[in-house]
Amino acid sequence: MARQSGSTHSTVTATEQRLAKLGLQREMDLALHFPLRYEDETRITPLDEVVDGVPVQIEVVVEESTVQYRPRRQLVVRCIEPNTAHPLFLRYLNFYPSQQKQLAAGRRVRVFGETRGGFLGKEMVHPRVKVVDEDASALPQALTPVYPTTAGLSQLTLRKAIEAALAKVDLHDTVPALWRKRLGLVGIEHAVRGLHHVEPGESLPALEARLQPSWRRIRFDELLAQQISLRKAYVQRRERIAPRLVAQDVAQKITQKNTGKQKSSTTQPTLAKQFLAQLPFALTGAQQRVSQEIERDLSQPYPMQRLLQGDVGSGKTVIAALAALQAIEAGYQTALMAPTEILAEQHYNKLSAWLTPLGLKVVWLSGSLGAKQKREARALIGKGEAQLAIGTHALIEDAIDFAQLGVAIVDEQHRFGVRQRLALREKHDGGHSPHLLMMSATPIPRTLAMSYYADLDVSVLNELPPGRTPVLTKLLSDARRDEVIERVRHSCLQGQQAYWVCPLIEESEALQLQTALDTHALLTAALPELRVGLLHGRMKTDEKSAVMAQFAHGQLHLLVATTVIEVGVDVPNASLMVIEHAERFGLSQLHQLRGRVGRGMAESVCLLMYATPLSDTAKARLKVIYENADGFEVSRLDLELRGPGEFVGSRQSGQPMLRFANLERDADLIEPARELAEHLLQAAPQAAEAHLERWLGVRADLLKA
Ligand code: ADP
Ligand code: MG
Repeated sequence: MARQSGSTHSTVTATEQRLAKLGLQREMDLALHFPLRYEDETRITPLDEVVDGVPVQIEVVVEESTVQYRPRRQLVVRCIEPNTAHPLFLRYLNFYPSQQKQLAAGRRVRVFGETRGGFLGKEMVHPRVKVVDEDASALPQALTPVYPTTAGLSQLTLRKAIEAALAKVDLHDTVPALWRKRLGLVGIEHAVRGLHHVEPGESLPALEARLQPSWRRIRFDELLAQQISLRKAYVQRRERIAPRLVAQDVAQKITQKNTGKQKSSTTQPTLAKQFLAQLPFALTGAQQRVSQEIERDLSQPYPMQRLLQGDVGSGKTVIAALAALQAIEAGYQTALMAPTEILAEQHYNKLSAWLTPLGLKVVWLSGSLGAKQKREARALIGKGEAQLAIGTHALIEDAIDFAQLGVAIVDEQHRFGVRQRLALREKHDGGHSPHLLMMSATPIPRTLAMSYYADLDVSVLNELPPGRTPVLTKLLSDARRDEVIERVRHSCLQGQQAYWVCPLIEESEALQLQTALDTHALLTAALPELRVGLLHGRMKTDEKSAVMAQFAHGQLHLLVATTVIEVGVDVPNASLMVIEHAERFGLSQLHQLRGRVGRGMAESVCLLMYATPLSDTAKARLKVIYENADGFEVSRLDLELRGPGEFVGSRQSGQPMLRFANLERDADLIEPARELAEHLLQAAPQAAEAHLERWLGVRADLLKA
């Protein structure tokens, strides 16, 4: 038969290709490819003892094998158990001639599968068959592992490849004995071999739920590899060079410039001092602490890479301004990048109002600027005449060269891709890297932060500016829409302003736009005494900014908007937020949207309208947002409800490495893994490398971002 006599060479290649598809290239990859489940072929179950639906192995002799055509073509094999003469029928709806041959009358076979009661006696559908011949009749000693596989790669081939690899791999323990003891971990050799070769008698359900000590060890090792690689990235960053943004430099520069005009530059109030003096408020304790952390980082000769987490409204913009001023004072420029035009422009308005009085030049750079304006902005940046450049991702376009970029700030960093952030970091490649400050209002629970951001330093603004009244959140069925409209009328006539957020329609942008237009028309008609504006993603930038400016200046009472207002928009007089179809939004989105109000002195209200009936998950989610005002708590509960997958936005570089560990279930292993990673990198760097190599091999590159 031609099919069976294909050349060995091409078979090997095809197998290798299929193994590679599973990421199995090295012997170690194969050794660390663990079974999904196990089948017990170590014993033969007498037919009497068989329970329908439970996988068992039975030994029978074939009596007759026939192809039947009712109700469709199938192979039916009548067997009997030798000692008892109980019958067993095997049924194959698809079969090869080779199978038919294997099941010829008189053959003694072991079949593995689940039985069910048939008309004529017990039967098995598509059981696995092993012919018992004289030389191979011994039963296996270990359970038969069933591995995750791919099309065309049989369990047998995979098992052989893994066995061969296990015979060769070096499984010396990379976790020191003392740590294993402290953490109650079994040895790696024991764990790896034990998971491939399971003795009969072990609890299969526990094994398959991966609860065994061996599995715990595997998960720990995987988390350790992740921590080592992230900490390595952290250390490598310290080997890069960044400008030290220190006051001394300023003092020298100013003295040089003024050549005697000024007696002593140290008596000059620094830019930061001037800036703080003109602010209408004092920094919160948290703002002071965080700005000191950043100040310290910026004065180091290696690039800062800090994540600033602060709930919506915690005052991150002031921190960004202070970082910029430190750079500017040392003679360097700052770039501030925001994910949307609206937010970037708002930053531009705010920061130029803050910094222009200090004699500084702030430029605005966005994709929507005309060619001439863009050229001018670029020239100002290139010549170093602009100290602060604010914009969208247009800022990191290749054509823009900073004269001397000292600090790059990314606002709402989770909205950007890893690549964009890398591009910003590489912006200044003449030997120096800029300091990087990433800001985010989507707080990440601690365990997640530890595993996704272990290569960053993290600062937390855990205090809101004083005088904020908490936002009152209410849940209403959309049957009460008219009441909500009345409420808007009432509040706006009292001098307050309101947002009305249109439902998110993920399937269709066109539909979403149409809904926004309809809602705007409806509310304009229903509220003739109010000025109602509309903001959506399809509007031109200048239209958008005109509407935003009108709203910010109190010329509009009500702003009907899509989620374009989700991040960063800051209009303190707005105190009422209405969100339609709240059940369609993510929790962090709702928290962000709600954060648009509660920024001024007035009591703020957020009305979440939902469509009935609500699913149980939708109910659970709305309950979280209703009961919690703290963004960290919201995100912790969000994580509980939907797992870490979507959480980390585009920073998923750490994700592909985790095959076995689970950041929720294994939260208790992350902290020790981090400690050991640091210990190994310092005390036994070779062990750290060996561990990384073992677990990541070729995938180690994925983590560079
Ligand atoms: P976010 O952290 O969400 O970016 P913003 O920087 O937009 O917050 O700040 C929210 C509002 O709080 C702004 O109007 C800002 O001027 C104001 N603000 C910031 N810090 C303080 C403070 N220490 N005291 C009072 N108001 C502050
Ligand atoms: Mg902000």
